[in-house]
Amino acid sequence: MDGIVAFTGAGISAPSGIPVFRGHGVRWEDVMPIESDEFFSIRFLRSEPDLFWELYLTRLIPALERAEPNPAHRALAAHAIPVITQNIDWLQEAAGSNDVLHLHGHAGWVLCPAGDRLSLEAVRKWHGAAPRCPQCGAGPCRPDVVFFGEPVHGVVDALERSAEATDLIVVGTSLRVAPANQVVFQAQHTGARVHLVDADCETRVPELLTTLLGEAGEASRGRREH
Ligand code: NAD
Repeated sequence: MDGIVAFTGAGISAPSGIPVFRGHGVRWEDVMPIESDEFFSIRFLRSEPDLFWELYLTRLIPALERAEPNPAHRALAAHAIPVITQNIDWLQEAAGSNDVLHLHGHAGWVLCPAGDRLSLEAVRKWHGAAPRCPQCGAGPCRPDVVFFGEPVHGVVDALERSAEATDLIVVGTSLRVAPANQVVFQAQHTGARVHLVDADCETRVPELLTTLLGEAGEASRGRREH
């Protein structure tokens, strides 16, 4: 499987029961009282830290914890395909993948204002209020995830990996979030074959693609050549 790289988004985890932001399937708006673009903005985290953390710990984290890897995560892991993911869940690692680049961070980790990285478990007792660091007392802590309005530090690494790919398997992403979506354009620019597995794939950027496939986690579905 040398040369094959996967680029995944919220749709790969949708069959596991984690809502998406856009497109086919259950949306975060269906389970959250606040629009996802607002909830995941750095402005909201800064202006309403207590409300943010209340919803984060009572709605978002339990949804991630209930989820288990589905056949799409497992297929990428079984073939040891390196994964660049926009997801903040840990399902790809739970499926057995060792090489996962989390472009937008990881919800299992928290950052103290002093810069230390802590496990989410370390701050969970602050339920109902923005947590302070249990080690140094500084606060508030924040999830180790990238919010809308923040720079994406991993993008250079991701672009380098996609530039080396012979094939990029793109799974469950609307390609609406920049600069993460540049991973796909970069791979195409450097001559990779781009294969899209997405429930709504025909409505977007078909000119970009070599192959269109169906939904993640349903390996037996028909294959459509573009
Ligand atoms: P998105 O929500 O913008 O788009 C999801 C895409 O997945 C849509 O195109 C939809 O049609 C597709 N989809 C839904 N069900 C599918 C299925 N069963 N098989 C294949 N495709 C399916 O997601 P995005 O492009 O990743 O951007 C959203 C941002 O929100 C990302 O940056 C990500 O960090 C974050 N996010 C993460 C999670 C997670 O960690 N699981 C969930 C929601 C959003």
